[in-house]
Amino acid sequence: MLKGKTALVTGSTSGIGLGIARSLAAQGANIVLNGFGDVQGPKAEIAALGVKVAYHGADMSRPAEIEDMMKFAAAQFGRVDILVNNAGIQHVAKIENFPVDKWDAILAINLSSAFHATRLALPAMQAANWGRIINLASVHGLVGSAEKSAYVAAKHGLVGLTKVTALENATTGVTCNAICPGWVLTPLVQKQIDAKVAGGGISNEAATRQLLGEKEPSMQFTTPAELGELAVFFCSPAGNNVRGVAWNMDGGWAAQ
Ligand code: NAD
Repeated sequence: MLKGKTALVTGSTSGIGLGIARSLAAQGANIVLNGFGDVQGPKAEIAALGVKVAYHGADMSRPAEIEDMMKFAAAQFGRVDILVNNAGIQHVAKIENFPVDKWDAILAINLSSAFHATRLALPAMQAANWGRIINLASVHGLVGSAEKSAYVAAKHGLVGLTKVTALENATTGVTCNAICPGWVLTPLVQKQIDAKVAGGGISNEAATRQLLGEKEPSMQFTTPAELGELAVFFCSPAGNNVRGVAWNMDGGWAAQ
């Protein structure tokens, strides 16, 4: 379905970004990967799906590096048809103790990076009259949780950016939507489970049950593969008039 299209997925060396890259590649899209840590593993895995794959190591907190990545992607594959703004980090602390540098980093990586990548991707999408921008927000783009001020503020901001991007392009073939997962078992969440293990002297299993039980009625993690299939839907012809939604896949979290 996406043969000949190019998808750039930020923060795709791990977790949800890698899952979405896999799903888009399985539909035939060429992939530009981004993120830190192991690159060769994810690159080989995507290439094995029979598509072209490239990697750019832009630090998404730095606008100049984002600009370089967007130019690189266009030079590699012609243009970016599908942009998935996924890179994100978390830090948990009460507002009065929240480190200022962590606030700045979360706002830069989880919110401003999407603005920069979007502003740089839009002209070519508009010229082609086809494009898909998918923002990885969170259920925390819809509701709050204590001790996550920067993350919740950034994700609510990202849902707002999604709506404005969708509206400004509403009469074109360019759509923009947000995906709002609840808990997904990735390194970002494992760190929060580890903190419960350390803080409560409990097992990993007990900490996992506690984490799910606090928020997620289904008591199940959403998987990167499930989120990848939602991204594929947004890219499909059936998604042509889906514009500006914030679609939660959260086991009932936001329904409470
Ligand atoms: P993860 O830690 O597994 O992956 C994050 C990715 O972002 C990695 O590839 C990492 O290298 C990259 N990254 C981090 N900082 C970066 C930077 N400065 N520049 C470039 N890349 C950077 O996390 P994840 O759980 O897969 O999270 C992906 C997205 O999904 C995030 O935006 C996160 O907020 C969102 N999300 C996650 C969950 C969850 O439960 N895991 C729930 C809702 C939303």
